[in-house]
Amino acid sequence: MTSTVLSLRGVTKRFGGLVAVNAMDFDVTEHQVMGLIGPNGSGKSTTLNLISGALKVSGGEISLRGSPITALPAEQINRRGIARTFQLVRLLPSMSVLENVVAGAVFGHRRRWGHEARSRAETLLTRVGMEGKGHLRVGQLTYIDTKRVELARVLAGDPKLLLLDEWLAGLNPSELQIGISLIKSLRDEGRTIILVEHVMDAIRSLCDTCVVMASGTKIAQGTPQQVLSDPDVIRAYLGD
Ligand code: ADP
Ligand code: MG
Repeated sequence: MTSTVLSLRGVTKRFGGLVAVNAMDFDVTEHQVMGLIGPNGSGKSTTLNLISGALKVSGGEISLRGSPITALPAEQINRRGIARTFQLVRLLPSMSVLENVVAGAVFGHRRRWGHEARSRAETLLTRVGMEGKGHLRVGQLTYIDTKRVELARVLAGDPKLLLLDEWLAGLNPSELQIGISLIKSLRDEGRTIILVEHVMDAIRSLCDTCVVMASGTKIAQGTPQQVLSDPDVIRAYLGD
């Protein structure tokens, strides 16, 4: 049986005269990976910001398992199980890997720094393939390891719906395979994922379904195979 985790209905965001997100409608099915794709500037990150509550909608409604979350503050949306990564990794460079994840765990669970948060952070680091690297400074890490730490931080709140904003961007081909497997494993443990992504291999191998945006508007929806062969989508990517 499939069930809908998240629904957007007529979701619109204006920045002054610019309509960055225009009457977006889509449903995200539990345990699936939904790709949110489209050219630069098409409104993907803004859509994630609206879902996570970082930005407020100009119109429309967002609901989580049938309950409206549109008006909730970001913190409450996070507490209901939605968490996101940012297009540019936001770690605290002067702190250790473990401290960065603990900071996420403390935020995620409203706890003070303590034993429990530390051991939880260690478990999360193992989960993302960073076992034994908790003592390193973030500045010493390879690029993929900063990505892993960011993921561990986001997982600290045990989100049911993960919003990944170009989390795979910038990885080399072998790192990309590791990143794809990691995302698959998150799906396999029951999480639902919205994946904003440009890497076509990743879209093909990860997404159950895709929504394609161009200039703020949904222009196509379907399996990766369907949307990537859609003439409107190809035209949007070629930019004519
Ligand atoms: P994408 O993630 O698809 O590349 P964005 O959602 O970041 O696109 O941006 C969509 C459009 O909204 C762009 O034209 C961008 O310049 C504009 N935009 C995004 N955030 C803001 C903001 N905070 N203020 C004004 N304009 C913004
Ligand atoms: Mg973006």
